[in-house]
Amino acid sequence: MNTRPVLKLKKVQDMGISKGSTVLVRVDYNVPMKDGKVSDDTRIRETEKTIKYLLTRDAKIVLISHLGRPKGKVDPKYSLKPLVEHVEKIMGVKTHFVEDCIGQDCEAAKANLKNGEILLCENLRFHPEEEKNDESFAKELAKGCDYFVQDAFGAIHRAHASTSAITKYLPCGIGFLLQKELEYLEKIMTNPQRPFVAIIGGAKVSDKIDVLNSLLDRVDMLIIGGAMAYTFLKAQDTNVGNSLVENEKIEDAKQIVLKAFRNGVEILFPSDHLVVREIKEDAETQNTQSMAIPDGWIGVDIGDRSISIFAEKILQAKTIFWNGPVGIFEIDKFSKGTLELAKIIAQATKNGAISVIGGGDTLNALKKSGINSQEFSHCSTGGGASLEFIEGKLLPGLEALSR
Ligand code: AMP
Repeated sequence: MNTRPVLKLKKVQDMGISKGSTVLVRVDYNVPMKDGKVSDDTRIRETEKTIKYLLTRDAKIVLISHLGRPKGKVDPKYSLKPLVEHVEKIMGVKTHFVEDCIGQDCEAAKANLKNGEILLCENLRFHPEEEKNDESFAKELAKGCDYFVQDAFGAIHRAHASTSAITKYLPCGIGFLLQKELEYLEKIMTNPQRPFVAIIGGAKVSDKIDVLNSLLDRVDMLIIGGAMAYTFLKAQDTNVGNSLVENEKIEDAKQIVLKAFRNGVEILFPSDHLVVREIKEDAETQNTQSMAIPDGWIGVDIGDRSISIFAEKILQAKTIFWNGPVGIFEIDKFSKGTLELAKIIAQATKNGAISVIGGGDTLNALKKSGINSQEFSHCSTGGGASLEFIEGKLLPGLEALSR
């Protein structure tokens, strides 16, 4: 079993932050934008607890974040400026903006900050040094600040200047969002209440082999859906028609099934499917009678019988981890399986199970289902980071904080 060393991480509330200090906070404000406006401010709200705590310390708060992939160049499309009004409204205090995260203007803006005010700095990734984990850039970021608080779980699996090198220049701690992420992920990985059921969907086996292997050392049951399932079914000589298959991963799929068998983990695949002849919004759909998909047809969602079987198992679970949609949920006609699973997991949570939902597309699917994220125990804000954590990897940002 892959085990990660236990890291010693200081919590923001244990840092002894003195009143009126300047605190540099790395947040993940990589929010979705539409026509130059923030279309969903969930990521800003997620940092409220940490920022409000710092405000009780009368701190001057300097926020740094990335947004999108500007590739080391200034690109107005990725400016954090439109976020200012949201930060101000959510945090309830005066929020200033500075058009660079380092340099003279930034230093002046930090020096002019009053206690209990916020300064939002421009996109870290406008500087190529950020993604190169450049030490002198990190030193510049730290200028004029007394402490560093990391609260960007979504960026913690990257060794960047604002997640790694920065920790060399200021006393560090972790914010409440990062604490919550680690608490839930740690709980399901080290001491899950049983039965522990994981549901893994999505497009590719190749993205999730390490996650599947790691989960097989921990779960009681593994449910596989989405396009991934077709590679597994093909590996067992089941006909999958024209469904998406990774032929070069068939051997890996066989090994995973073998490991499940060796570890005594029950592994479930869809026993029927929603199929179409062509992937399009108004496609004519059919529910297969069996696990096999006829020639010329494409599997786009799990079928009705699979939904009932998976529901029965999920409702018996005490711990649930879910990552990846079980169908092409972006198209309404193919979203039933994913949306029903969301409802069933919410029901299981209501009955007392602990549910952890992996980020990215799974959260988008949840939004579509209309179910509030509060109906799950924890919805991770970092898709990539949560998967790497579950794989048992040492996340560079966490390792740096513990040094
Ligand atoms: P991932 O990022 O690996 O979680 O994959 C998410 C993507 O998997 C979504 O965009 C889904 O549309 C896609 N997906 C799920 N089921 C299928 C399927 N049966 N065929 C093709 N794509 C699928």
